Amino acid sequence: MTGIAVLGATGSVGASTLDVLSRHPERYRVFALTAHDAADSLLDLCRRYRPRLAVLSGVAESRELARKFKEAGTELLLGAAALERVAAAPECAVVMAAIVGAAGLPATLAAARAGKRVLLANKEALVMAGPLFMRAAREGGAEVLPVDSEHNAVFQCFSGKKFIKKIVLTASGGPFRTLPVEKLHAVTPEQACAHPNWVMGRKISVDSATMMNKGLEVIEARWLFDVEPERIEVLIHPQSIVHSMVEYADGSVIAQLSNPDMRVPIAHVLGFPERIASGAQPLDLAALKSLSFEAPDEQRFPCLRLAHAALRAGGSAPAVLNAANEVAVEAFLARRLPFTAIPAVIEDTLGASRASAAVDLAAVLAADAEARRLAAQRIARTIGRAA
Ligand code: NAD
Ligand code: MG
Repeated sequence: MTGIAVLGATGSVGASTLDVLSRHPERYRVFALTAHDAADSLLDLCRRYRPRLAVLSGVAESRELARKFKEAGTELLLGAAALERVAAAPECAVVMAAIVGAAGLPATLAAARAGKRVLLANKEALVMAGPLFMRAAREGGAEVLPVDSEHNAVFQCFSGKKFIKKIVLTASGGPFRTLPVEKLHAVTPEQACAHPNWVMGRKISVDSATMMNKGLEVIEARWLFDVEPERIEVLIHPQSIVHSMVEYADGSVIAQLSNPDMRVPIAHVLGFPERIASGAQPLDLAALKSLSFEAPDEQRFPCLRLAHAALRAGGSAPAVLNAANEVAVEAFLARRLPFTAIPAVIEDTLGASRASAAVDLAAVLAADAEARRLAAQRIARTIGRAA
């Protein structure tokens, strides 16, 4: 039995992971589960999966909670530093990195340094610190398996960098693919989070609506597969059945297909190199009848252009892009910022931040902190003007 830590267990990917794990109790023993501050949800999961450790990273102290978790047979650790401790613990060989946002970087990096099999959902870690993260994984002897459906698809279709012509990342286009552009200004968080094909956490749902998610995924693919940015293409595919493709020098294109259900890529990385049941509905192409594709519209989705620019600029620019996006998305979800101001905040933050060529952890975290400050100031100015 393999010990596994699920970081971000109360989230959308966390729930899908535990669902697949519960179908294979003979393979995995749940060693640790973590959440930020959702204590009740985490306690329910502990009663069900009986991990040795649980972490509430956003809670500083609570005797009452410690007692409740103890009654469930789990030792409760508090504070963000405990995430790194469980990610590197010798009792787990596998770490599911499913925390959302920059907050996931330290623990995901700790798992890589400790030589774990890292099941990577936390794409922001790779966006912020791609070269650093991949080097840590190499030096630590870690194996990084992509959970993001597109990267998991590419991983399944990839037979050596030497022979590939390009990687094609598919994108659904999100809920606003066909909405008249002049209506984008007034869309609500509820509309932005109502993704046509996937049920996901709120942050990545907004990223899908702006298509920043695809921009982050281009950066993620660049580091995961060590391919030049010019060889990574984005293609709109509204049905989300083809999860991505690899084109080879001879003209062959290999794609991976399934129903849009995160349990498919999660089961793939949990079973790898074997194949295990995921619980997903089998694909019925005869019922679907047709699949369609179109080029992305960069006017409608400026975030895609911004992500490409940050990748080209290199150094700390992707970390700045990521931080500004997190701050802008949070403000949009809190109804403090219109949807169309998200790319404007990111673009201005990229322009105002002091670019640094260094990509060590200290430089990445400094760029992240500075970008958060600049983006918050920029949002305050926007709100001031609107008032
Ligand atoms: P979510 O919001 O549903 O869950 C996030 C989890 O992270 C929760 O368990 C939460 O408690 C924890 N968390 C939140 N803030 C934290 C903090 N500051 N410190 C520590 N823990 C914190 O998110 P999700 O949709 O499951 O996405 C998780 C990651 O997976 C993201 O990086 C996302 O881009 C990626 N991803 C998600 C999907 C999907 O279908 N949801 C698909 C591909 C990739
Ligand atoms: Mg994805």
